[in-house]
Amino acid sequence: MSEKNTGVTKVVIIGGGFAGLECARNLANKDGFEVTLLDRTNHHLFQPLLYQVATATLAAPDIARSLRGILEKSKNVTVFMDDICGIDIDAKKVSGTSGQEYRYDTLVVAAGAKTGYFGNNHWEQHTIGLKSLSDAYSVRKKVLENLEAAERTDDPAERKRLMTIVIVGGGPTGVELSGAFVELIKRSMRRNFRRLDVHSLKVILVEAGPRILPPYIESNSAYAQKRLEKIGVDVRTSTMVTDIQPHTVITKDEEIKCGAILWAAGIEAEGITAHLPCERNRAGKVTPEADLSLTGHPNIFVAGDLVFMKDIADKPVPGVAPAASQMGRHIAKLLLKEKKTGNSSDRQGFKYLDKGSMAIIGRSQAVVEFGKMKLTGFIAWLAWLFIHIMFLVDFRSKVGVLLQWSWAYISDAPGARVFVNKRK
Ligand SMILES: Cc1cc2nc3c(=O)[nH]c(=O)nc-3n(C[C@H](O)[C@H](O)[C@H](O)COP(=O)(O)OP(=O)(O)OC[C@H]3O[C@@H](n4cnc5c(N)ncnc54)[C@H](O)[C@@H]3O)c2cc1C
Repeated sequence: MSEKNTGVTKVVIIGGGFAGLECARNLANKDGFEVTLLDRTNHHLFQPLLYQVATATLAAPDIARSLRGILEKSKNVTVFMDDICGIDIDAKKVSGTSGQEYRYDTLVVAAGAKTGYFGNNHWEQHTIGLKSLSDAYSVRKKVLENLEAAERTDDPAERKRLMTIVIVGGGPTGVELSGAFVELIKRSMRRNFRRLDVHSLKVILVEAGPRILPPYIESNSAYAQKRLEKIGVDVRTSTMVTDIQPHTVITKDEEIKCGAILWAAGIEAEGITAHLPCERNRAGKVTPEADLSLTGHPNIFVAGDLVFMKDIADKPVPGVAPAASQMGRHIAKLLLKEKKTGNSSDRQGFKYLDKGSMAIIGRSQAVVEFGKMKLTGFIAWLAWLFIHIMFLVDFRSKVGVLLQWSWAYISDAPGARVFVNKRK
């Protein structure tokens, strides 16, 4: 039994994503806590809508907001933009590439995940992933640049290559990207070109497993595949990518020449987890104790996408935004309780509340699974729309995104079809 903790606890949080931000928000303006939130970017990013930035429907400010802005009323939270590259457990400090050090009593590592290539790291140079705003802009630029080149060229083989996009990975990101690109180019841009037939566009979605959307029930996977094929996506299941070369995806059966290779097949934990005093799995993920602290280190917590665990009900915790937020909240509540009672010996384990899964297919169809409720089609799309608007971080972006979507839907003309080139 320990005494009530009346001192100030310095909490350092690495990562202002769903987990880190939720933890900071729950400790905001609470007596006895001095919180430092560290992120290598200056914004919180709503990753579930990244594909809409990549496919030119939304612009960056619609899905990202400055961490300083979000936390401006949280007087005990200080935000630093820094790329954290070291954790010194003995000295209780972390260090950034800026050279700055940040001391902690309690550390929360919520740095998320990055694109992973299953050990084939050389594939990274030939593909574009989708984890950050800069990835989304790179995808958009690559595809729009290819269309420009395809309009210019007189070589039919080159035009065919430029008009082929291969998306590797049939999870929600691959499904959403492939549907959105077909709709954007074949439908919204159909009157934009004079020489190019936009219907020659080929979007190939390659999935190693036997069906797309593997975590979903089989009928929803089948529905998604049928809808994608109907709008013109070439879905290839049970197709393992064996190598990736410049402009070429190689599978067991063929070599696909293409203008863009988009990688949506895997993620791995951010590299900072290598500095934690614990084992990591092949994807670099960490398995904490039930309360989310590291074994033997009750003052170091992990949360979000870099965690690989089952909750106290023995349910695997998925790498999704609600799970990350819930973990961040769990840690904050636990710290608040300990501050009040001074007792750190009866910590509660983390329990994940499943909020369901959903994926959008093309312009106005989706699949939604929530417990026993399974929805497909337009109703599912409306549910998807409502939930994604609800969870955007502030009111301005909620209204802005709703207006953008409405306009894109009515006019069939997404407004963000612009990319910037460096001047030579
Ligand atoms: C394209 C895409 C679509 C998705 N769609 C959905 C969806 O529809 N529904 C859903 O629930 N989930 C979806 N997800 C997953 C969801 O976004 C993640 O589960 C969630 O973002 C995890 O939250 P997190 O806090 O763990 O990490 P993140 O949100 O990734 O935040 C991590 C933060 O840490 C920062 N960081 C990383 N390393 C460092 C470092 N060394 N130093 C400083 N800062 C660092 C990063 O800049 C980032 O801000 C999607 C993800 C992607 C990429």
